[in-house]
Amino acid sequence: GRSATSIFKVSKDQAHRNAQQLYEQERSSQKSHMHMIVIGHVDAGKSTLMGHLLYDTGNVSQRVMHKHEQESKKLGKQSFMYAWVLDETGEERARGITMDVGQSRIETKSKIVTLLDAPGHKDFIPNMISGATQADVALLVVDATRGEFESGFELGGQTREHAILVRSLGVNQLGVVINKLDTVGWSNERFTEIVNKLKSFLKQAGFKESDVSFTPCSGLTGENLTKPAQEPALKAWYGEGPHLLDIIDHFKVPERAIDRPLRLSVSDIYKGTGSGFCISGRIETGALCLNDKVLVGASREQAQVKSLSMDELSQTSVFAGDQISVTLAGVDINNITVGCIICDPQMPIPVTTRFQCRIIVFNVKVPITMGYPVLLHHQSLIEPAVVCKLTASIHKSTGEVVKKKPRCLGNNSCALVELETSRPICIERYADFKELGRIMLRVSGVTIAAGMVTKIR
Ligand code: GDP
Repeated sequence: GRSATSIFKVSKDQAHRNAQQLYEQERSSQKSHMHMIVIGHVDAGKSTLMGHLLYDTGNVSQRVMHKHEQESKKLGKQSFMYAWVLDETGEERARGITMDVGQSRIETKSKIVTLLDAPGHKDFIPNMISGATQADVALLVVDATRGEFESGFELGGQTREHAILVRSLGVNQLGVVINKLDTVGWSNERFTEIVNKLKSFLKQAGFKESDVSFTPCSGLTGENLTKPAQEPALKAWYGEGPHLLDIIDHFKVPERAIDRPLRLSVSDIYKGTGSGFCISGRIETGALCLNDKVLVGASREQAQVKSLSMDELSQTSVFAGDQISVTLAGVDINNITVGCIICDPQMPIPVTTRFQCRIIVFNVKVPITMGYPVLLHHQSLIEPAVVCKLTASIHKSTGEVVKKKPRCLGNNSCALVELETSRPICIERYADFKELGRIMLRVSGVTIAAGMVTKIR
């Protein structure tokens, strides 16, 4: 369980440090950071939209764009030139689908946004989930073309599924892009019709009306992406309404995690030069300074920070959101594993073998029953686990208990379950640390469920 008592003595400096002040001194010019996932049915125009947005915000060089334009022309697929900004590999290009969660960054007036581009192909939902587990906010892209919105939303499409999934992972702010409005002559009626249908669904799915916005766009023509409406047919009813970049700029930035206790998730371990060894990973919350003392992994062995670096440059302090390398001394290399968490000795992370999660289930061939073996994915950690208790099946949107102690859980069900690992692991409740409270369950390389940690034994 959690213990707030100091496990060993830390220096006065470390204990009384004001991380926020330190951050402002060191990084005064930096904008706040956020992760955005782009979701929606296959062919809704997600890649084209994001590629065009990246280009218009100056994040793709003229040279690269020119190359994509030439190549797409040659293949007679010019309409894909923006989409290619996001899916770089030849295989994806040949198949015309985006497979992996590719990453790119855009800067708005107030923030830096890392895009987690989600693929829309039906088989690729599992790839999208790993992106969704990192997302602060989501963009839902729908195709306004007559018949296309309907097949993505009503007829077994992924619009609903994706929206419910990101909501289940705790994402609560959503920007809805009513895309390809050029195909319906910028019709205000069509826009309103789609907005109304989505509004009532999203409310049911647990999104607050004030946290959802709707924007008319065309990813292909670039209309209303970074400038107010130019197209007369749109301008006539939309006026100077917000464009996509405005919507992104106005997302509420998640609380900066700097003032929370240190949590660093380890993604790689290697022998450094000199004594000690190096790890690399991401500071999920808090800050870390040279000479700080920390606790390592489930063994809670103590270690001291001997050097810090980011992008190959030495640092004296690093902060939440930073991808860093650290040299540690005083700890046995065998006690540190990929996926383990390094934490603040005064506010250590819970270590447990058993915890409860709220999950959403998909892709299971055999329904989940008691004793079902899975691979637990938590940050970089991959650990065998067993579903040891089916506490209740719950309503997908409202979270109300539908049935206590169900015998099994099939596709598209939502449930509270308990998981047990054979080795102790470091984990947090979503309510305490959203960064460390999201999990995925996989079986034979397929993601079968995702969700958040609700209770720790
Ligand atoms: P994704 O599967 O959601 O990433 O969709 P893509 O970006 O690959 O786009 C699918 C198809 O729709 C491509 O043929 C695009 O050229 C086309 N498309 C994308 N955005 C628009 C748009 O705003 N208007 C029109 N008319 N076509 C678009």
